[in-house]
Amino acid sequence: MKDLIVVGGGCAGMTAALYAARAGKSVLLFEAENIGGQITAAPFVDNYPGAPHMSGMEFADKLFEQVSELGVEIELERVIGMEDHGAEKIVITQDGRHASKSVILATGAKHRKLGLPDEERLTGYGISYCAVCDGAFYKGRTAAVVGGGNTAFCDALFLSNLCEKVYLIHRRNTFRADAAMTERLRSVPNVVMIMNTVVDSLVGERALQGIRVRSVAGGGVSELSVDALFVAIGHEPDSAPFSGNIQTDSEGYFIAGEDCATDIPGIYVAGDCRRKSVRQLTTAVSDGANAAVGAWSCPVG
Ligand SMILES: Cc1cc2nc3c(=O)[nH]c(=O)nc-3n(C[C@H](O)[C@H](O)[C@H](O)COP(=O)(O)OP(=O)(O)OC[C@H]3O[C@@H](n4cnc5c(N)ncnc54)[C@H](O)[C@@H]3O)c2cc1C
Repeated sequence: MKDLIVVGGGCAGMTAALYAARAGKSVLLFEAENIGGQITAAPFVDNYPGAPHMSGMEFADKLFEQVSELGVEIELERVIGMEDHGAEKIVITQDGRHASKSVILATGAKHRKLGLPDEERLTGYGISYCAVCDGAFYKGRTAAVVGGGNTAFCDALFLSNLCEKVYLIHRRNTFRADAAMTERLRSVPNVVMIMNTVVDSLVGERALQGIRVRSVAGGGVSELSVDALFVAIGHEPDSAPFSGNIQTDSEGYFIAGEDCATDIPGIYVAGDCRRKSVRQLTTAVSDGANAAVGAWSCPVG
């Protein structure tokens, strides 16, 4: 039986694994998709204290290296459930059952979809949720980004260096993105901001050729010719496989305090999947450290 199983290989999960491994604990980490999680989509990270001017991928790679060197066992498998048997927790993946003394859920959050009829069909053929992953496919072409927060702004800025023209479409007339980011984007000449507007439908048979946008105020619909649409309208927590075990709020975020302890002894939650007000690298790694210390200092049974 492992001392600790960590579910999720984003920055919160890897930090938890790092702390536990450095304390001499045996750690098994499961990651369903890509090591590093969301931050790998960030073209630059400038707000992590003491480490300016790095890309999200660089940050994730360094953390992965650090964790691997400490002997953390990492498996690329999706966790589909968990059982609590007091001193023994069972983490279930598609390939089997794995026992540990404690578990840290660091499952993060995933992209919200627009919910348009052809969205699924055109995903990968013009529709994307990750500008850093897919932006290069649209070099020299026209792209649109939908959203009004920091993610949408990061995406538009990143794409402005690759694409001939970038539309930023937002349903309100104010942005959630922070002021510095907004100012920065406003000064980019090939970015056109379209406010009070929503994406109404997608145009294209085999690949996206355009989008129909509707004015929220007047209701008028017009068509924009674009090769790509990057959807950046927020995230949802990836808590579904555990919502039967752990208490969540109405949006699905795990409920736990700053110590990251859930109401089940030996089970902790860390990072963006936890209910909190600031979701950033700093708060994710902070959660990872708190959860790991909690997990080894409060043995169950
Ligand atoms: C484009 C972009 C730019 C950003 N820029 C910044 C920035 O400049 N500065 C900053 O501080 N923050 C930034 N953030 C936010 C920051 O990336 C997140 O707050 C942080 O990475 C959250 O880390 P996490 O480990 O909690 O979650 P995540 O990064 O979401 O990682 C969770 C991981 O768990 C995995 N997982 C989920 N469910 C399962 C399961 N059932 N089984 C196994 N694995 C599972 C997921 O695949 C994922 O890899 C940015 C985010 C984005 C999207």
